[in-house]
Amino acid sequence: MTTRALRVAALVKQIPEIELMAMGGDGRLRRDGVPLHMNDYCRRAVAQGRELARATGGTLTVVTLGPPSAENVLREAIAFGADEGVLATDPAFAGSDTLATARTLAAALAVAGPFDLVLAGRNSLDADTGQVPAQVAALLGLPFAAGARELRLDGQTLRLGLEHDDEWVDAEVEVPAVVSCAERLISPCKIKDPAALAAVDGTGIRRLTAASLGPGPWGQAASPTSVGAVRAIEVPRARRVVPASEAAAVLAALVQRGADVFERRSAAPPASPRPAGAMARETIVAVEPGRARLTRELLGAAAALAAQAGGRVIAFGPDPGDASELAGWGADEVVIADGARIEEDVAACLATWCRGREVAPWAVLGPGTQWGREVLGRASAELGAGLTGDAVALTVTGGRLVAAKPAFGGLCVADVYASSATQMVTVRAGVLPLPGPRDATAIPVTTVPAAPVSRLRVLHRKRTDDSGDLATAEVVIGVGAGVAPEDYPLLRDLARLMGAALAATRKVTDSGWMPRSRQVGITGHSAAPRLYLALGTSGKFNHMAGVRAAGTIVAVNIDPQAPVFGFADLGIVGDWRQVLPLLAASPALRKGYLAK
Ligand SMILES: Cc1cc2nc3c(=O)[nH]c(=O)nc-3n(C[C@H](O)[C@H](O)[C@H](O)COP(=O)(O)OP(=O)(O)OC[C@H]3O[C@@H](n4cnc5c(N)ncnc54)[C@H](O)[C@@H]3O)c2cc1C
Repeated sequence: MTTRALRVAALVKQIPEIELMAMGGDGRLRRDGVPLHMNDYCRRAVAQGRELARATGGTLTVVTLGPPSAENVLREAIAFGADEGVLATDPAFAGSDTLATARTLAAALAVAGPFDLVLAGRNSLDADTGQVPAQVAALLGLPFAAGARELRLDGQTLRLGLEHDDEWVDAEVEVPAVVSCAERLISPCKIKDPAALAAVDGTGIRRLTAASLGPGPWGQAASPTSVGAVRAIEVPRARRVVPASEAAAVLAALVQRGADVFERRSAAPPASPRPAGAMARETIVAVEPGRARLTRELLGAAAALAAQAGGRVIAFGPDPGDASELAGWGADEVVIADGARIEEDVAACLATWCRGREVAPWAVLGPGTQWGREVLGRASAELGAGLTGDAVALTVTGGRLVAAKPAFGGLCVADVYASSATQMVTVRAGVLPLPGPRDATAIPVTTVPAAPVSRLRVLHRKRTDDSGDLATAEVVIGVGAGVAPEDYPLLRDLARLMGAALAATRKVTDSGWMPRSRQVGITGHSAAPRLYLALGTSGKFNHMAGVRAAGTIVAVNIDPQAPVFGFADLGIVGDWRQVLPLLAASPALRKGYLAK
């Protein structure tokens, strides 16, 4: 099929070099002097945009929101082959949360467009919410495809392979559309030569001020979320490095230390009776089909919030599951979004239903999966509601919901508040305790009709793994490129003995030796087990950021200079194959020991 010249926009974000960031003594993040660069996922969006523009005889416009220094990422994209840059910059944009950012970007795209295709990174590595692309799509009224790992244009149709958490989705969509790019979609846009950057003619960069985008409000005034206290996450590491011959003696003591350091995740007590008087308050849980454990965690959290703040818990989704089971987990009512097929349909149905309530729901909770990020991202844009992404804890202060959200590769956790009537949060999998059993009474089930648009046509969905155990396992074995795949049966034996889950570095998932859903690190999952056992991994920051909150870290590496030893409590210098019997023999590492 012939393809017309495509006008492509790529959204890019300038972020700090997270590895070089640190918390100051005053508890504030030190950013001064930290080098800035283009967010790594956005590099894929620019490269893919250039390829499509070239293939169709079209153009690539690169768009960013930021201070004047953000011009540097546009220069890099232009040096790489983009046709023009658009910089939305104005003191009025300061303090933008994700929704205000999405509003500014959508307005900038409308002024600089129209575009046939808007590409974005899957998420930014500093804030890691992944919700801006979905919010931009909602504000522009466009379909959205998240996490493109394969992308092919056929006439006006984009044929896509999407990487979602532990799922692979084959889909197609007509342009115009918004597509976010996964890590290995294409070789990234990267210009290393300073002369090439200096040679970029700045006349190709257009500046847009707040006034040029419309009356606003913009920035902080348009942001329904605000950040409160920020806490550093630091688990002191013993950094003891020993040869394999001495390892056994120190191993048990260190693991015991980890068991003490890391509080055991216990089941939440059954929810207490709800306080009377505030029964109109509703906490909605958006239920992703086929994720029973996550639903249970969220309903348990919602029931605990309702016990504090008052109100009822409503499970909402296209296929929320058995009502008596949901009641046992904390739901007081079930609402079925009938006919909703894809995330866009669920979000539209949820937003319409919320708008139709007599009193706006107090909160909407959803899973921190790709599904949850899109459903709540889109619904938040439609409702103008504050959305916090990827929270790890939920509390109530003064009748308001407080979501604890990690940022900067887990360097810190911030308390985020929403000022909107409805407070929305996506919650990271596995971090909330499972609720204890509740007496299940019959609860009402209602059905609301969805009006499916289904502009993204899902052809095939396949769950490739269940990486949920990474979040819940007491022990995680991190496998690096220093372990050959033919030796994995040995690791699986060790994992069985220890009751451990297996994780991997990006090199391992890049090689296809383990599924991408097993990747731990800044562009993978986070895990906070009691014990992280790193075998044959060099311990690069981008990997170790994912296990910053682990109780104890034990690393085995043949190279005494490996950076992993700087992140570990116990470093064993040696060939992992020789250390393996020692690990297997250690009673301290046996399944059940840590659970004591
Ligand atoms: C933007 C960006 C994002 C990234 N995100 C992630 C991420 O999310 N997760 C991630 O993991 N990486 C990520 N990376 C990649 C990361 O920087 C490293 O390249 C990667 O983690 C290295 O993987 P590795 O330790 O398995 O391999 P290597 O660095 O090759 O290390 C292998 C190690 O094995 C040791 N070894 C070899 N043989 C043996 C043996 N017999 N016994 C014991 N030790 C042995 C070697 O000494 C070496 O230290 C990212 C990179 C970038 C640029």
